[in-house]
Amino acid sequence: MGGDTQDQAGYDILGLFLMAAPERSKEVDALVQNHNPAFFVATDQPRFLLEANPPLGFVRYLNRTLLQVWVLAWAMWKEMYCWSTEIWFLTQGHKAFVLAEFEALSDQTQSYSDADALYSEAMVFAQSDPLDWRMWPSQVPKPLDIASGTKEDWLIKDLVHHALAFFFLHELRHVALHQDGRSFDSPHEEELECDRWAAEFLLARSDSYAAAANEDPVLVKSKRAMGVALGTAVIAHIQELGLWESGMAHPSIAERMERLASELDLPAADLLWNVACSFLLAGLRRRGALPECIECHDQRDLFLKLLRPPTRDSGDRALA
Ligand SMILES: [Zn+2]
Repeated sequence: MGGDTQDQAGYDILGLFLMAAPERSKEVDALVQNHNPAFFVATDQPRFLLEANPPLGFVRYLNRTLLQVWVLAWAMWKEMYCWSTEIWFLTQGHKAFVLAEFEALSDQTQSYSDADALYSEAMVFAQSDPLDWRMWPSQVPKPLDIASGTKEDWLIKDLVHHALAFFFLHELRHVALHQDGRSFDSPHEEELECDRWAAEFLLARSDSYAAAANEDPVLVKSKRAMGVALGTAVIAHIQELGLWESGMAHPSIAERMERLASELDLPAADLLWNVACSFLLAGLRRRGALPECIECHDQRDLFLKLLRPPTRDSGDRALA
């Protein structure tokens, strides 16, 4: 493989944690000392693979998986153009989310088809076997070319790094829990704990980083939380079960998102909730499960109501 394939073998996972949460260097050192986790790249195969083997103390993943998160991030960001502005206006005016009103917007059909085109290009690349770089989506900068990307590209790149840090931290928590002999009532409880811990690692001390870097603490936390929201939205896209069905090992993605949201102390009007709503609507739209109408009083409220399963008779999930 040459440089043009942008192979990411040797991806620095511990460096990723420090990039995502620079204030956590002591914890990263302690993790290495106490758990000595190994990360390795598995032989390429056309699927999403990023998982821990707790008894053996390692996390394995595919380069393809990192790239899949990257291209899906751009596809999901494109979905913002379908929803974001209108959601902002309707929640400012305390109005309900009414799908028909979105679909009556003059450019909504175009926004859907732009998002769909990028999404299908992303999936063609991610599912090519062997991985075919000629299929790379034309609108997405390649990782090694990001330096010449736009400001918007750089923001999306940062969200990818936070999403990947969230994934790897989640897996690392499985390893640490096993080594510490911690047991849970159910596999679902362990999954929720790994999510909680990974999000806490990224978010709980972001204020101290913001103070040291002279940045706005709400903006710093908001951006990191957007990365976590991206991570959960990527899972919602790649798994087969949809938003509300749980698996043998995993709680439903809606439950995981709701738990994460419940821990997040960002104002209801923060852009994070708007972004999270757009990512969620992207998934619902692809599954033909968009809600018709949701009464909501702010962006956070809309996000939480989008997570509720539709009622059987009306398809309206939010009036209860
Ligand atoms: Zn897990």
